Amino acid sequence: MKMKAAVLEALNTPLKIEEIELDDPKDSEVLVKLVATGVCHSDIHCIKGDLATAPPVVLGHEGAGIIEKVGSKVTTVQPGDRVILTVAPYCGKCPACMMGVPTSCENYPQTAMLMGSMPDGSKRLKRKNGEELSHFMAQASFADYAVVDESAAVKVREDAPLDVVCLLGCGASTGIGAVINKARVKAGSSVAVYGCGGVGLAVIMAAKLAGARQIIAVDMLDKKLKFAGELGATDLVNASKDDPVMKIAELAAGGVDYAFEAIGNTTAMNQAVHSVYSRPGGMAIILGLAPIGATFSIEAWRFLREITVTGCTAGSIRPQIDIPHYVDLFMQGKLPLDKMISARYTLRQINKAISDTLEGKIMRGVITF
Ligand SMILES: [Zn+2]
Ligand SMILES: [Zn+2]
Repeated sequence: MKMKAAVLEALNTPLKIEEIELDDPKDSEVLVKLVATGVCHSDIHCIKGDLATAPPVVLGHEGAGIIEKVGSKVTTVQPGDRVILTVAPYCGKCPACMMGVPTSCENYPQTAMLMGSMPDGSKRLKRKNGEELSHFMAQASFADYAVVDESAAVKVREDAPLDVVCLLGCGASTGIGAVINKARVKAGSSVAVYGCGGVGLAVIMAAKLAGARQIIAVDMLDKKLKFAGELGATDLVNASKDDPVMKIAELAAGGVDYAFEAIGNTTAMNQAVHSVYSRPGGMAIILGLAPIGATFSIEAWRFLREITVTGCTAGSIRPQIDIPHYVDLFMQGKLPLDKMISARYTLRQINKAISDTLEGKIMRGVITF
């Protein structure tokens, strides 16, 4: 079918709206008419060339919409279902999936999602001249329609506003899942969050819901720290003015129980680990994606304090269980996802949405169709 999509033709250039061809869904795939899609920093990383997905590519990976068509082997969703498109499709059969960690699926690895094809390695998008286009994160939701694997289309309740809950496709679920699924933040504990973009803000929201006593937000931009304060951070640290490790030690009597790194920067990762050194059993949770090959070091004797340093991909969620749960929490007023959205755009305004996100003018932008 023909549809409109925003195509990245070359690195560091504006996206162009083009009419392109989308193939029908294969056996275990579904066709979704997009209603909304979030603009995430990973889309911008791709434009800058920080990720492996090479142009020409259709970006967008926080889509939500309505199923229009399903492949012959699809069993979990049907036309008319309202779905959130997650960045973590999974096979359901490999050891990681069987152990309840589908975000580390061995057959549909996250690294492969960044290579620009569908989980089976092929593509569904092409130009009139037959040239194939890549799918960002096996989704490509900056377009009127998307074809995704069945496991990536998560059915949600009828009354959920898709132009808000679409954020759960990537960034928001990553932050919320890191707090609830991975760290299991205890009530009354102290938390630090390095980076107040979409993921960091979701960490703050979820830590507040979990009953954290103190939530210290760290960022280089006062604008972003202001957003963090609005969503529940109790203390704000501008890392361009203060050493965040020292400041956290001062604010939290030595250090915090949990430190989340939500940037993808090895300096911040190191600082997050330092922030839990003094807490017996403290945990540093690394959410950001650092450049391949980047390293940081840890003073080994600190493990004497039984600290944990762990990674967490896409919030370690089990999409069909956790995303509907987070939607319920939003509908009950416990997770104010709507407060994260400070601007809405049309697909034609995509480049403005991207520049506003990049400049930190908005907390989160959503494209509506
Ligand atoms: Zn699997
Ligand atoms: Zn994302």
